[in-house]
Amino acid sequence: MPETVRGPVADLGATLMHEHVFGLSPEILWNWPDIPEGWDLETRAREAAAKLDAAKAEGIDTIVDLTVVGLGRHVPAVQRVAELTDVHIVAATGLYTYDALPPYFGNRGPGTLFGGPDRLAEFFVRDITEGIGRTGVRAAILKCATDRPGMTKNCERVFRAVAEAHLETGVPITTHSHSAGRGGLEQQRLLAALGVDLGRVVIGHAGDSTDVAYLEELVANGSFIGMDRFGIGTISPFEDRVAVVAAMCERGHAGRMVLGHDSYCFNDRFDADVVRERHPDYHLLHVSRDVLPELRKRGVTEEQIHQMLVDNPRRIFG
Ligand SMILES: [Zn+2]
Repeated sequence: MPETVRGPVADLGATLMHEHVFGLSPEILWNWPDIPEGWDLETRAREAAAKLDAAKAEGIDTIVDLTVVGLGRHVPAVQRVAELTDVHIVAATGLYTYDALPPYFGNRGPGTLFGGPDRLAEFFVRDITEGIGRTGVRAAILKCATDRPGMTKNCERVFRAVAEAHLETGVPITTHSHSAGRGGLEQQRLLAALGVDLGRVVIGHAGDSTDVAYLEELVANGSFIGMDRFGIGTISPFEDRVAVVAAMCERGHAGRMVLGHDSYCFNDRFDADVVRERHPDYHLLHVSRDVLPELRKRGVTEEQIHQMLVDNPRRIFG
């Protein structure tokens, strides 16, 4: 049974595979607590729970919260949200960086200034087997990232630790990838070389691309692909995002795609008003309200929608 913030559940149901509850900047909040985006756990938890309840009313049962270290993960706050909503929240571990590591990791480990053992994999495994911090919440998925600079030395170190933790625990892997640079392919190459079954890997943000040949290559290599940034129109507009999902369904790949928005219930790194203005559809209800109806219009069947929202997430966590 998949682990969630409230413990194991029998069935995740309709699942958005890439979202975030909170994105926090602890060092900013420690030092400038009076910023307008300021943090009050109970207030923000209630706001987040209301947003998740609204998604539940639109048919969403589960979100996978891919906030890991590097994005401001704070699981005690997510735990409070989970108490206030019926939506299941799956927690993640891993590290989000395009190159630089937090100095805690960057200054230790093989080949670093001070040497010693690499603690990344040890911490990831602990999050999965014992729980995150002192919350007892177990992570159920591993996350790693590369972006425009590609597989840098430090990204490779994170990928190696993620692969090691995956092989030890069996939880699936998901990535942040740079689709414009066809970055999912080098992620697959490294993970496969490290002994990871690519059928346990989701190449995230693949839906930023409209290059069907690239997406089919990712799928042919055995991975799931994340069509997971619906609402971020500045990277790829609504029209293109739905067209590529419909095309991939038509070509027989509904069994390999998962959906999401990459949204945040609260993120101190964005000015919420500006984001609403620039990305009016960047919220947890966009898939249910706009994307699915448009996919149906384009010939995507209920069965294919069920595959992307329910069956594929179940297989990934199975
Ligand atoms: Zn994300």
